[in-house]
Amino acid sequence: MAVATHCPYCALQCGITLDAGTTPVGLSGRNFETNGGALCRKGYSAAQLLEHPERLHSPLERGADGVLHPVSWERALDLVVHQVRAVQQAHGKDAVAVFGSGSLTNEKAYQLGKFARLALGTSRIDYNGRFCMSSAAAAGNKAFGLDRGLPFPLADLDRAGTILLLGSNVADTMPPFVRHLESARENGGLIVSDPRRSATAELADTHVQPAPGTDLQLLLGLAHVLLAEDLADTEYLDARTWGLESLRISLASWWPERVQSLTGVPASVIRQTARTLASAAQAARSGGKPVYILTGRGVEQHANGTATVSAAINLALLLGLPGTLAGGFGTITGQGNGQGGREHGQKADQLPGYRKITDPAARRHVAGVWGVDPDIIPGPGIPAAQLLATLGEPGGARMLLMHGSNPVISSPNANRTAAALRRLDYLVVSDFFLSETAAQADLVLPVLQWAEEEGTMTNLEGRVLRRRAALAPPPGVRSELWLLAELAARLQAPTVFNADPREVFAELGRASAGGIADYSGVDYTSLDAGAAVYWPCPAGTPISTAPGERSGTPRLFLERFAHPDGRARLEPVYPQPAAVDDADLRPGTISLVTGRLLEHYQSGTQTRRVAELQQAAPAALAQIHPDTALARGISDGQEVVLENSHGRVEATACLDAGIRLDTVFLPFHFPETQNANLLTGDAVDPDSSMPEFKHAPVLLSRLERH
Ligand code: SF4
Repeated sequence: MAVATHCPYCALQCGITLDAGTTPVGLSGRNFETNGGALCRKGYSAAQLLEHPERLHSPLERGADGVLHPVSWERALDLVVHQVRAVQQAHGKDAVAVFGSGSLTNEKAYQLGKFARLALGTSRIDYNGRFCMSSAAAAGNKAFGLDRGLPFPLADLDRAGTILLLGSNVADTMPPFVRHLESARENGGLIVSDPRRSATAELADTHVQPAPGTDLQLLLGLAHVLLAEDLADTEYLDARTWGLESLRISLASWWPERVQSLTGVPASVIRQTARTLASAAQAARSGGKPVYILTGRGVEQHANGTATVSAAINLALLLGLPGTLAGGFGTITGQGNGQGGREHGQKADQLPGYRKITDPAARRHVAGVWGVDPDIIPGPGIPAAQLLATLGEPGGARMLLMHGSNPVISSPNANRTAAALRRLDYLVVSDFFLSETAAQADLVLPVLQWAEEEGTMTNLEGRVLRRRAALAPPPGVRSELWLLAELAARLQAPTVFNADPREVFAELGRASAGGIADYSGVDYTSLDAGAAVYWPCPAGTPISTAPGERSGTPRLFLERFAHPDGRARLEPVYPQPAAVDDADLRPGTISLVTGRLLEHYQSGTQTRRVAELQQAAPAALAQIHPDTALARGISDGQEVVLENSHGRVEATACLDAGIRLDTVFLPFHFPETQNANLLTGDAVDPDSSMPEFKHAPVLLSRLERH
């Protein structure tokens, strides 16, 4: 029977149809608003994962011989409970930590946060979204009082005349997105900023190539020009924002020639880009085509990521765009449930509904839904990078439960993470394949894949989508909701943990009621009937199931921003020195930028197991400018070494004149000696705890084999 569901991978959540009645399982693109029926290579081949021979079918316990052996679920559950009790008795509640994911369904993300706080009584929960959307989230909250990736439907871009796209390569990472850039392209208004001529930059009318780590300075230069040339929308700023005078002072010294000296972007291009944006925004206010500014991980995954996104939002506010029909600001969420994953309580400092865990009223509300005393909910934990770095150390966790993440590949300074995991007393990993992190575990728990479970995901627009089960799971595999409910019961948690996703979603809605991300008006029945629902959607909101109609809040901020006074904040930002270890400030280094390929998704745990994807992109290619290569005696296709104080990576040289002379690009999907995150560092953003992923000094040389 054909089942309508969504792709398991990225936040575009393309519509697909699965047919479990065929062998192998049939998969085709479905006409959904984000993808129009199109899928990328990853999506088309996703069904190959469902019957993959490397699928885990039984819990695995590491024996005295150091090898993982199959055990029963009964034993696996008993082991987890025994270890939790032993570790917490010896070291306290916070000695057990939980690490979640932006790929979990809303229901699982919610239940994981509740499980950590109530069944384990630990504050130590965070998730891999800290490495993904946290800078954008922090900046959005500061400026608008609310963080939703796109505060408007993606289809709004289909009318755009101008789009400034900063640090995002959607043509490779989510190809069906490109159709939403067509209107701007036809208008000659697609501007892409990226240190390399990416597949998306190839499509652009204007490609700006700042040096890695200088996106913030470029944005300050653009904003400087708007104010210096009286191009800002002062009427909008007066009516809808605070902070213009402070911003004006902060921008005074960022004249284009100074910005050129730091970014490498010619002053004339900075001036022209600012003028183009201003004239397009003015035309949009008079009924012309809208103007959008969009950011991606390229500008966000930095130790100054929050400041950089704040600068991009400032630019959009100076142009008078957010909260209008003349355009807006948005950030392009990456992981499949990168949006929902950060709303339901997986973050160290949050409770469901995007509530602050330190807010007494929020604690009372959520405790009421959970049926517990607010005082038993632990306080804030520590963010992901710190949680991982301190594992097994004094004050750090000694046991870790990992769900939907593979930090041995995806965390910064991956050597350090692998070593930290080895220091643990006990590591439990729930996954459907033996990822590189699972391979280090003491206990591996095999869980459902996307096409075997019911649930919801929230896509990059804040639209809540139904994930549907199309086929029965293999014997021996369990849902994470069942797993958490079983463990909670054995740990004598002070409240009930439901294993039924529909019930968990209803509870999630009650817990979120009145919060920023309010889901209390959303239910499975209306989603199944085809409703397009965007949060916030409080209980009682009329829900339409008519085709083409939207319910909830598809467009945020049209009346007011989410701060109590309804106004947006202009945030003055002041660049700090680059977050680079002294040991890496050596002559001859160039900047490493990491990113994704068309063929692979995140740490590659899934896509490296799909034969056609792995054949197309089997190994790490280092993209290097021909002149940079020539200076080091490197030719195309030759093996090279990249190294710095954190580690050493081997890759194959791919010469490309589209990348800057001072930059080398590596994809981050590959393991062992090809793992790009062996080279990324320990610095994190002070506001969001986002690690510095996109700028690491490295020495590049030919690989000499002796
Ligand atoms: Fe769509 Fe993303 Fe899946 Fe590709 S990976 S089909 S872009 S949801």
